[in-house]
Amino acid sequence: MDESAAPATVSGLSVDPDVQFDCVGCGACCRGRFVPLTLSEAVTWLKRGHAVGVLLEAFDESLWPVASPEYAYNAGRSAPVQGGSGALRVTVILAANALPECPNLQTNGLCSVYLERPLVCRIYPMEISPFIPLRPEAKDCPPESWQQGSLLASDQGLAMLVQQSRQTDRDDARRKVAVCEALGLTVAGWKGNGLVIHQPSVQALLAACEGTDADARPAAQNWQVKAEDPALRAYLHAQSVPLADAPTDAYLFHSVPR
Ligand code: SF4
Ligand code: SF4
Repeated sequence: MDESAAPATVSGLSVDPDVQFDCVGCGACCRGRFVPLTLSEAVTWLKRGHAVGVLLEAFDESLWPVASPEYAYNAGRSAPVQGGSGALRVTVILAANALPECPNLQTNGLCSVYLERPLVCRIYPMEISPFIPLRPEAKDCPPESWQQGSLLASDQGLAMLVQQSRQTDRDDARRKVAVCEALGLTVAGWKGNGLVIHQPSVQALLAACEGTDADARPAAQNWQVKAEDPALRAYLHAQSVPLADAPTDAYLFHSVPR
């Protein structure tokens, strides 16, 4: 999708200018999902003893129009890895497991770590990607939350949080790939087709995060791409993208709806 197709505002938020919002504290966004975390948030989460999943997607930069804004966005939050033609990039999403609900959600519906809650919890329901316009009907917030409050498009505080999230994604990209390689997690879903979800133990992921410094560079490990659509697999094979073939219970594959 071209960035110009999104209803971007002066604040950089991708939302229609007349959308109002006020959180009513229902807690719906704290249930039934993965909660993306920055690397430092993941370390804090793991130290509390809670599980963090590793969601991986890959793309081949030689197959993208390099001058496009979408390429720049995705290249910035990914890191190059070894595999195939040598143009493979991987994006790592560390995500807290809030299935069936977040471990920090109390029985009274309040967040037990409210003052330290992750960036993404402060941003919801706004989208972080500039290529995904906010659609209220696609969010878990109840109707009354959209009938009151301030205009999201002019919320400068929210815009700053979104910019902070995007910047942190860029800052963490290489180190997160190095964390995966330290754990031997080298299979990623094909961007747009699906995500590969690895579920390392709390102890192993915490050790890898703390043992990988900010200057880490990905190691020379061969990565593979998981894709389930036969036509896509044939295309990727023709493009020399290395495919993961063997069935495995080492990870889950989550198809992305088209
Ligand atoms: S950290 Fe708090 S705000 Fe974020 S999902 Fe968990 S309970 Fe909800
Ligand atoms: S689902 Fe929406 S209204 Fe409910 S707590 Fe989350 S942000 Fe607030």
